[in-house]
Amino acid sequence: MTKPEIRVRIAPSPTGDPHIGTAYIALFNYVFAKKHGGKFIIRIEDTDQTRYRAESEAMILDAVRWFGIEWDEGPDRGGEYGPYKQSERLAHYQKWAKELVSKGHAYYCFCSSERLAGLRKKQTENKLPPGYDRHCRTLEAKEALARVEKGEVHVIRFKVPSSGVTSFEDGIRGKVEFENTKLDDLVILKADGFPTYHLASVVDDHLMKISHVIRGEEWVSSTPKHVLLYQAFGWEPPHFTHLNLLRNPDKSKISKRKHPTSILYYKRKGILPEVLRNFLALMGWNPGGDQEIFSTEEMIEKFSWERFSLGGPVFDLTKLLWMNGQYLKKKSDFEWVQLLRQNVFTEDYLLQLIPLVKERVCAFEEFIDNTSFFFNGDLKYDEAVLPPKGVVAKDASNWLVELLEKLEGLQSWTVEHIKEACENYCKEKEIKTKDLFMTLRIVISGGTVSPPLFETIHVLGKEMTRRRMRLASDSLKKR
Ligand code: GLU
Repeated sequence: MTKPEIRVRIAPSPTGDPHIGTAYIALFNYVFAKKHGGKFIIRIEDTDQTRYRAESEAMILDAVRWFGIEWDEGPDRGGEYGPYKQSERLAHYQKWAKELVSKGHAYYCFCSSERLAGLRKKQTENKLPPGYDRHCRTLEAKEALARVEKGEVHVIRFKVPSSGVTSFEDGIRGKVEFENTKLDDLVILKADGFPTYHLASVVDDHLMKISHVIRGEEWVSSTPKHVLLYQAFGWEPPHFTHLNLLRNPDKSKISKRKHPTSILYYKRKGILPEVLRNFLALMGWNPGGDQEIFSTEEMIEKFSWERFSLGGPVFDLTKLLWMNGQYLKKKSDFEWVQLLRQNVFTEDYLLQLIPLVKERVCAFEEFIDNTSFFFNGDLKYDEAVLPPKGVVAKDASNWLVELLEKLEGLQSWTVEHIKEACENYCKEKEIKTKDLFMTLRIVISGGTVSPPLFETIHVLGKEMTRRRMRLASDSLKKR
């Protein structure tokens, strides 16, 4: 008998910047697939329309490509089991959700959001766990169908068995068990006809013939729901493996408040992709002994889950930087020239910078002085300069955090959008634009004189802007 093909996937949701956790999960999926001559697939999970961000999908694909792992099938390159974007697969989910209804494993639910809110309130008041009370589970199938046909608003819910235990064998954790009474009758198809994550994930993993699901531990509690869905469909579930989440040095879950989480930040910082791969690999695995420096090829050759460690992996920036230095030292002078051209002094970046400083530079010897903050990493702020005169440190600190929230929410990073967000924020908070803009100018450029502010922020890019605003806010808070 031929062994079934190994097929793995990452399934990022395009709701923000490409996350470092996605790179970590992608790496282990990729290495596992390549070790076994299998396929690595990218599927875009864009069914949450409220959180969808148009730019995000391309950014994720670009970031994973920069990270240095190629996918065999995906939204941009197609494949036998496409489309690889969930919003283009709605017909599948609707079909399979109805199939579950007709088999008696799911039911139409007509409960209004008011009823559900009331229910939740009562449960909180009575200190009961939140959950759906299965009100519509007992409706006559015929009656429910008639209501659907009349056009009544409804969702489809999965009938979770009222007793028993659901278990699965995790690739590194062993047997994981959940009591069914603790699981809710989850919604699988929403009122707008879009599936929830659970249904879409199961249907796609099955139709795309995914053999192993390797994902972050935050999904462990979803897996019993998935297992029950596989059983209801009569499908063989894939093997599940849940990797530990990356941690901040204080062991809390990695978050952008404490740590840059965008892959693009590390690219912008000048971390080599092979170093990021090595570093992220070390978060859970090593080839044995105390060897820390290894290539992805070596990892593929020696990989097995037995050597995977379940301790909370700490993402330590200092160590990453040390490792990057180790790799850089080994590069030849000529490689350095190439890398600087490809990463720092790129034609694209210079073309954006030059219009901002052309007016002020009379000879090239002045160029570096006028543009250094565009190339530097974290800046140091002189207490005599930040906060600017007339601004209280604590206020400035709050402004930076709140404004950053607004900038994070922008659909796209354009001069117009940045300007509008800053101006609106001033209006909303009744802050003098002069005060906010000077604070921002210093935070971004390190001094009180810079090229036009919004153009500067735009060219500096979101990653560096975010990093400087956060660090400056933290240091102002401590004053
Ligand atoms: N869309 C989910 C995410 O954003 C995928 C989880 C999974 O791998 O099943 O991480």
